[in-house]
Amino acid sequence: MQTKLTFWSGVHDATGANFMFETGKATLLVDCGLIQGQHRSEVNCEVFAYDAKSVDALLVTHAHADHIGRIPKLVREGFSGAIYATKATAELTQHMLADALNVMRQDAKRGGTEPCYDEHDVQRALSMFRPVSYGETISLPDDITATFTDAGHILGSAIITLKRGDKTFVASGDIGNQPQPLLGAPQIPEKYDYLIMESVYGDRAHEDVASRKAKLLAVIEEARAKNGTLIIPAFSLERTQGLLYEINNAVESGEIESIPIFLDSPLAIKVTEVYRNRPEYMREDVQEQIRNGDDIFAFPGLEVSHTKEDSEAIQHTHGAKIIIAGSGMSHGGRILAHERRYLPDPSTTVLLVGYQGVGTLGRKLQDGAKTLRIAGEEIAVRATVQTIDGYSAHADRDQLVDFVEPGAATVKKVFVAMGEEKSSLFLVQRLRDFLGVDAVAPAPSESFEIEF
Ligand SMILES: [Zn+2]
Repeated sequence: MQTKLTFWSGVHDATGANFMFETGKATLLVDCGLIQGQHRSEVNCEVFAYDAKSVDALLVTHAHADHIGRIPKLVREGFSGAIYATKATAELTQHMLADALNVMRQDAKRGGTEPCYDEHDVQRALSMFRPVSYGETISLPDDITATFTDAGHILGSAIITLKRGDKTFVASGDIGNQPQPLLGAPQIPEKYDYLIMESVYGDRAHEDVASRKAKLLAVIEEARAKNGTLIIPAFSLERTQGLLYEINNAVESGEIESIPIFLDSPLAIKVTEVYRNRPEYMREDVQEQIRNGDDIFAFPGLEVSHTKEDSEAIQHTHGAKIIIAGSGMSHGGRILAHERRYLPDPSTTVLLVGYQGVGTLGRKLQDGAKTLRIAGEEIAVRATVQTIDGYSAHADRDQLVDFVEPGAATVKKVFVAMGEEKSSLFLVQRLRDFLGVDAVAPAPSESFEIEF
């Protein structure tokens, strides 16, 4: 059986995952994400290069915007099939799409492109989700089945295994870094014929996974010693919850004394509620801690800032304090007001715990900028800036090779996607050299005929 596989986007790029399978009788999509980065909003609003009405079903690996952010647009263009995802993914998607729409509206106000979908499209898309449990196998058109297993990347993230006849195709989605504060290890597949895999960190190693918690606590203690403000720009989904969990454990075990901590991100607050309600997606020892009565996202000192007024009131708490706010790369959100206020103060520390994209304010801070332009104002940077890489939610270059190893004997081709071109090509070469597999980094819109 021949199937056509097309990489519409999400190749030579870490964002915008959108891959299509066409068997002749069935058309399936895996993920439908936003293409992110500077000056990309117009690309997202272009009409899909395929007929959205022809798609029978959409399979979603996880709820990051670069995997789900164009689903309402697909619906607007006529897609009316089922959307399969885990329950946690479906619940998180609701908040992530509302936020994506909000960001698009703000961009439009600043003279950017108009949003390419509206609230109605979002609601219709959400009503089309069909929750799937880990390990459950669902039937799709043309005798294809799909099974979702834990990818260990964010809450509810899945590796999707498609079967048809005696052929197996694995779509990795994003693969978790190990260990993660809250999640278990990715369920690495063993025997398959084809694999699409991510490569965000295809060319880089995470240096400080083992020492990350010690580093985090050391930075908190430094802030306390300086009697200053510790600002943590954090991604609202997974990073924030992982940090809260680590701090929860450190405070409750007495490793550190409690300190005022403000969670100042409406999206992170909503996402944390989903986490609180879905412990079944977490690691077994975390579930046990919750069963034993610990609310892992509540500890002495933690305050949640729901409203704008709550956010502004944070400045009236004097002395050492921690502010966790979005966005993770400081390109918008409540973090900017705090950076504007506290960066000129030498007692401030900024802790960067995630990837900082080229051109973002976070990247400029990381690169040692002495002044920054925030809301039209030139701001002096006298704060100390620190980075901890080990909290990345993505497998690094060695973990990615390890992911393929059990399937190396049977795999006919590995499609390396979801990474910048340099990173994808580096991983392609390592997979060929270390495992002797046939690996390629497809180009945008490139198609392949596969035996599936
Ligand atoms: Zn992701």
